[in-house]
Amino acid sequence: MGTYEPVIGLEVHAQLLTRTKAFCGCSTAFGAPPNTQVCPTCLGLPGALPVLNEEAVRLAVRAALGLGCALRRVSRFARKNYFYPDLPKGYQISQYDEPFSEGGHLEIAVGDATRRIGITRVHMEEDAGKNLHDHGGQSVVDLNRSGVPLVEIVGEPDLRSAAEAAEYLRTLRDVLVFLGVNDGNLEEGSFRCDANVSLRPAGAAALGTRVELKNINSFRFVERAIEHEIDRQEAVLASGGRVVQETRGWNEADARSFSMRSKEDAEDYRYFPDPDLPPLVLDDVFVAQIRARLPELPRDKRARFVRDMKLTPYAAGVLTQHPRVAAFFEEAATLHGDPVRVGNFVQAEVLRDVVTRGLDATIPVTAAQLAELLRLVDAGKISGKQAKEIYGKMTGTAKGPGEIVAELGIEQVTDVAAIEAVCRRVVDANPKQAAQVRAGKAALLGFFVGLVMKETRGSASPAIVNDALKRLLGLVS
Ligand SMILES: [Zn+2]
Repeated sequence: MGTYEPVIGLEVHAQLLTRTKAFCGCSTAFGAPPNTQVCPTCLGLPGALPVLNEEAVRLAVRAALGLGCALRRVSRFARKNYFYPDLPKGYQISQYDEPFSEGGHLEIAVGDATRRIGITRVHMEEDAGKNLHDHGGQSVVDLNRSGVPLVEIVGEPDLRSAAEAAEYLRTLRDVLVFLGVNDGNLEEGSFRCDANVSLRPAGAAALGTRVELKNINSFRFVERAIEHEIDRQEAVLASGGRVVQETRGWNEADARSFSMRSKEDAEDYRYFPDPDLPPLVLDDVFVAQIRARLPELPRDKRARFVRDMKLTPYAAGVLTQHPRVAAFFEEAATLHGDPVRVGNFVQAEVLRDVVTRGLDATIPVTAAQLAELLRLVDAGKISGKQAKEIYGKMTGTAKGPGEIVAELGIEQVTDVAAIEAVCRRVVDANPKQAAQVRAGKAALLGFFVGLVMKETRGSASPAIVNDALKRLLGLVS
């Protein structure tokens, strides 16, 4: 991009993990039959009144604090008026000129460096329903989502490439997941992204005309959709045209964007304070309690794993991909005492069996089982190779590794005299090869090691076998 510089800002809608909706008691569970989780309030029936869900406020405040935002002690809910079939009230309850938080930031990795991306505001709002088209030849609406609590996280236009935008989105998702406020599930629509993209001549300060890309639902697509939009605007400008302010959708199948509508401005929504809801007051005690229980964020956790546990930055990144995995690793590392060894085993063996879904993760062994397994290796009772076999037999069971070792009868033999006796037998049985080793053909040592391991069915400690054979064959005195 020589002549033009892309300017990108993301708006993310993240569903707060409450059991009930923002302004009524209906369930927020995903996947229920259409229109079974609705009531007069979230259907927008006349006379039904909203009551704010305290847990939604708690989670929203936690998100804002985790993103370094300043809180507004008294904020206000506003009606955003527009007509759409999935919005039976004719307005969405949102926050407008007095959001509950503003002025945060998110540090993202750009190569080996980090960049601080500004966050304009985090505000609360409710979700709309979902229109389903081509439903037996009809368009129908499911209002189960109507009234589900969201935070909208509006980012500053600080991003300069599609790759940075994707990194911002991944980092933001990680933060919300570690905060426990959102499950980061793009497929189920609980984490959604709109992107504002504009170009300006390189070096210019003023922003170009922006185009909003709507509802991009995967990390891969966000990068492709933004790249495509940058190319499209560049072509328009290069041919002497003007970019039109509009909202565009992204069609992944064709890898093309398409115009949806000319972009509305805020005044088109006729925002006004919702007369059914009192101002939201965040009292100091409520906020202090949330602040005191803020969990460690992924960035801080990674830094601590590198600093205190001596993990490589790569390993720290892999082991903090999910809060449950990070907690499992940390518990096992504490029980065992050597975080690097535990980290290596988790990366090499355990992670491929871990299944995550939202904030849940199924980990096939407990931290205690893993720590005990590695202690058996440390004590020389089993080899590293046997540890992998025992791990496989232990997954999904409550058995201790010691129990499995006993059942399989595969305890590593570390009895030096017993191993030496086997080695002597093997050497005596193969006089020709023994003579060759003694005459200097050291490579044949492996032949004897193989025979001893075969005879002991792999249970002999390889280190002891090597030492004994070298002595018997005169390779060491
Ligand atoms: Zn309801």
